[in-house]
Amino acid sequence: MPPEPLVLAQARVLLSNDDGIDANGLTVLETVVRRLVKEVWVVAPETEQSAASHSLTMRRPLFVRRLGRRRFAVDGTPTDCVLLAVHRLLGNRLPDLVLSGVNQGANLGEDVSYSGTVAAAKEGALLGIPSVAFSQLYTDGEPVHWATAAAWIGPVLERLARLPRRPGLLMNVNFPDRPPSSVTGIEITRQGRHKIGGDLVDGTDPRGRPYYWIGRGRDEDRSRTGTDLEAVHRGAVSISPLSLDQTDEAMLEALRQAGS
Ligand code: MN
Repeated sequence: MPPEPLVLAQARVLLSNDDGIDANGLTVLETVVRRLVKEVWVVAPETEQSAASHSLTMRRPLFVRRLGRRRFAVDGTPTDCVLLAVHRLLGNRLPDLVLSGVNQGANLGEDVSYSGTVAAAKEGALLGIPSVAFSQLYTDGEPVHWATAAAWIGPVLERLARLPRRPGLLMNVNFPDRPPSSVTGIEITRQGRHKIGGDLVDGTDPRGRPYYWIGRGRDEDRSRTGTDLEAVHRGAVSISPLSLDQTDEAMLEALRQAGS
């Protein structure tokens, strides 16, 4: 018999992020999720951990600051937060869902490899808990359309709750950079092309040493149909299912053939 679908109103949910415990996006997520589920826990990094990826703190101890009932800050990475939450802070019952974000900024295409937001959700998925990463696109110097994330988190969760419950389920959700009234709907997408790192800024520090600063620019392709990038830039909410097993199935077969 397939496992029962998730009943949101009965769910125990863990929230984390990579922008830190005081980030606006976490407040948005918490406000919306509190209305939808039974029990909310927040375990988030003390300081911003954007681009921390899936890093784990191993060479020093981790300290937890209790901020309230079911609310904690950890002086570590998003991965540390989810691990500590599940193994220590939440007691002996697993959360039904791990939600990460809402990140301030896109996590599209290759961003998912660098993202601490996606990593927190990925850690949840690795621990067997269905997990979702949320990110809100924005433009530098302009107000962030948090109302868009706030309006669409619920519909996204309701759609995901209809899926059969499966350990390792990991979803990457991006909200478009526009007000809620002009969002076109939810689209299911695959990872597109959005590679950061080629935009290096050269400078000299006050002591005359040259430095390099990784900039914001990305090599991207907004035109390829069916991708996260194309969907959000057209005005849709994008949901991409991600896999934890990174085996390249086609290459696995090709390699086997090449050996015989
Ligand atoms: Mn971030």
